[in-house]
Amino acid sequence: MSIQYDLHTHSTASDGTLPPADLVQAAAAAGVDVMALTDHDTLDGLDEARQMAEQQGLRLIPGVEISVTWQGAAVHILGLNVNSECEALQQGLVGLREYRDWRAEEIGRRLDKKGIGGAFEAACALSTGKLVSRTHFARFLVAEGYARDVREVFRKYLVQGKPGHVPGKWAALEDAVGWILQAQGTAVIAHPARYNMTRSKLRKLIAAFKEAGGRGLEVVSGSHSKDEYFTMARHAKDFGLLSSAGSDFHDPKNPWIALGKLPPLPPGCNPVWRDFS
Ligand code: AMP
Ligand code: MN
Ligand code: MN
Ligand code: MN
Repeated sequence: MSIQYDLHTHSTASDGTLPPADLVQAAAAAGVDVMALTDHDTLDGLDEARQMAEQQGLRLIPGVEISVTWQGAAVHILGLNVNSECEALQQGLVGLREYRDWRAEEIGRRLDKKGIGGAFEAACALSTGKLVSRTHFARFLVAEGYARDVREVFRKYLVQGKPGHVPGKWAALEDAVGWILQAQGTAVIAHPARYNMTRSKLRKLIAAFKEAGGRGLEVVSGSHSKDEYFTMARHAKDFGLLSSAGSDFHDPKNPWIALGKLPPLPPGCNPVWRDFS
């Protein structure tokens, strides 16, 4: 049997719905052997996940998904196999969470002006109170009947040009990669096909990322189509980058791809997990 990897998952420490221990248990039950917990802008879930991973005989890769603004676009950079004790990484993430707190209040104010009251308080209540994501706003808006599902709510309320959108001021690409390197981790561009960039803009991003010390591209992702696996594998090869695979799992009720069901990397990819042994 081949080893099953899933190097991109979320828990209640950010915008997932399963607590870290339950997530690890679910992944182990689904046949995942090596799993990275990669919550948005926080390392908070790692201790709990580590304990359950030990019990389950699953290898936990400590990770994080860092929010970055690059040339006006929101881009996510995964830090895999990071030393979670690293001060520089921790401090960088503190700054991002401060921005996040302000942004959540601002989203609430903007929705309020459109006649949707109480969204900030509701989003906070749906989170663990430590980190509020647009996903928490989305769940509230769906529950209140503003849209049928989370995808529709994003389209109608939370993306650029819509009432609840706040232009991001996240980390600089070089800073995010730098924190990951200081934490002895491997930096990977998350879901590169999801940014709606032209091919040439995406390749500029990849070049800047590599220049900063980035090592990999997420080729197989729960939010990529099969065609996109192959296009992203080609970019990884062209730039001499490693390839990663992750479900981007958030919620068992609404998984883009179920835990333990990731297809293999396309032929010819150099897997990022070679860095981990
Ligand atoms: P934030 O980091 O708070 O801006 O929220 C980003 C998160 O929202 C992502 O990590 C996804 O989990 C979720 N998200 C973004 N766009 C969509 C979408 N179109 N449909 C569903 N979830 C989305
Ligand atoms: Mn998310
Ligand atoms: Mn992401
Ligand atoms: Mn993610």
